[in-house]
Amino acid sequence: MIQDTIAAISTAVGEGGIAVIRVSGPEAIAESAKCFRSKSNIVTADSHTVHYGHIVDPISGEVVEEILLTIMRGPRSFTSEDVVELSTHGGVVAVKRVLELLLRSGDVRIAEPGEFTKRAFLNGRIDLTQAEAVIDLIRSKSDRAFSVAMKQAEGMLSKKVKALRHNLIELLAHIEVNIDYPEHDVASMTSDYIRERCGEACAEIDRLLKTASEGKILREGIMTAIVGRPNVGKSSLLNALVQENKAIVTDIPGTTRDVIEEYVTLGGIPLRLLDTAGIRETADVVERIGVERSRSALEEADLILFVLNVNEELHPDDRLLMEQFRNRPVVVLLNKTDLPVVMNTSEVEAIFSPEQIVRLSVLHEQGLETLEDVIKRMFFGGELESADLTYVSNVRHITLLGHARQSLVDAMEATDIGIPIDIVQIDVRTAWEQLGELIGDSVSDSLIDQIFSQFCLGK
Ligand code: GDP
Ligand code: ZN
Repeated sequence: MIQDTIAAISTAVGEGGIAVIRVSGPEAIAESAKCFRSKSNIVTADSHTVHYGHIVDPISGEVVEEILLTIMRGPRSFTSEDVVELSTHGGVVAVKRVLELLLRSGDVRIAEPGEFTKRAFLNGRIDLTQAEAVIDLIRSKSDRAFSVAMKQAEGMLSKKVKALRHNLIELLAHIEVNIDYPEHDVASMTSDYIRERCGEACAEIDRLLKTASEGKILREGIMTAIVGRPNVGKSSLLNALVQENKAIVTDIPGTTRDVIEEYVTLGGIPLRLLDTAGIRETADVVERIGVERSRSALEEADLILFVLNVNEELHPDDRLLMEQFRNRPVVVLLNKTDLPVVMNTSEVEAIFSPEQIVRLSVLHEQGLETLEDVIKRMFFGGELESADLTYVSNVRHITLLGHARQSLVDAMEATDIGIPIDIVQIDVRTAWEQLGELIGDSVSDSLIDQIFSQFCLGK
């Protein structure tokens, strides 16, 4: 059981805005009351009520902050424990002061990262996939990744996994009956039944796993390299993409020290632009490709945006790059279409398919939507918008789904070669347990026994 009370600033700390301090645990209300002066008595107050008052230093009597205090008594709270939220006016100094006052008594300690969510899980408020989704939610950088995380937080994945487990429990019960009453007619249909139900479960797992690569892309972004000769418009393209994304652009230090990544979205598709520092340096690209870091950035890329200038003849270096990219996931950007077309584009069209070629004018911001459509088609079969947003993108989930699938395949194969069903049952049960692990259900033999005893009794 959780005994202690924790507190932390739950909002990003900055000047000006509202900051929320969240306190959770058995002493949350009593401890908050020690430094809260108000007309209302929060110790006796009802759950889900908001109280106006002041934070006062209990020792000096000094008024520190004017706040709104919200009480949520367990279990109707995020953590299932008593929770107090103190909304202050913000201002780093004031918020820290309030938090310090709360911590000073010694009965409240500072929360570890993610500890509120962890408690919600430990207290059975949310399951593991939902807890993981909350973490993704905080980290998600694009709108799209955000809605995927939202859906998962709402329990979409766990709902599907629970349905799968429900079917497997039914199957297990069916097998159990057959073991108990082998003389019944059910015996003959059991092998077919096992194959059918395991097959259905496998198909559902496959559907979930198929979303894994898309989920990964949505979460981590499409690793994108912009390449082309000097002056074709790479920096301009980069700036156009970044410009559109001013609000959410973040600099992520790359895996290699020199490679700087920039994260932008194009119509909801997250792109991780690789080696943008190199582009900004406007170094000669052919030379740059010789450089180790650019080479590995290119090899890593999920998507290459290869920029050409239609206002110029094809250059031998362009042909070199075309050869190099012909079998890569590349979109050829014929840029500067606002200027007279000098290039003989048929040479490009001979190597790349029409779906891979986009005519645009970065300067006039024309053609970016077409680029967006092309990328959607490449990575999501063009159906991103309407897609079911249950994306499996967590490595742990993918691994467990894979294990469960294998167990079901084992069960089907064992059935095929006539292995006794009480042995086959073990595989099905393993799959059920692996799916249980996914949503954080503890696996107990007694629970399974209980389920079966009920089934048999009811029969
Ligand atoms: P980079 O060397 O490939 O990064 O090319 P830059 O982005 O630095 O662009 C080189 C020059 O081309 C700059 O003067 C840009 O303003 C210009 N430029 C880029 N895109 C276009 C375009 O679509 N049309 C026209 N007319 N000029 C462009
Ligand atoms: Zn440039």
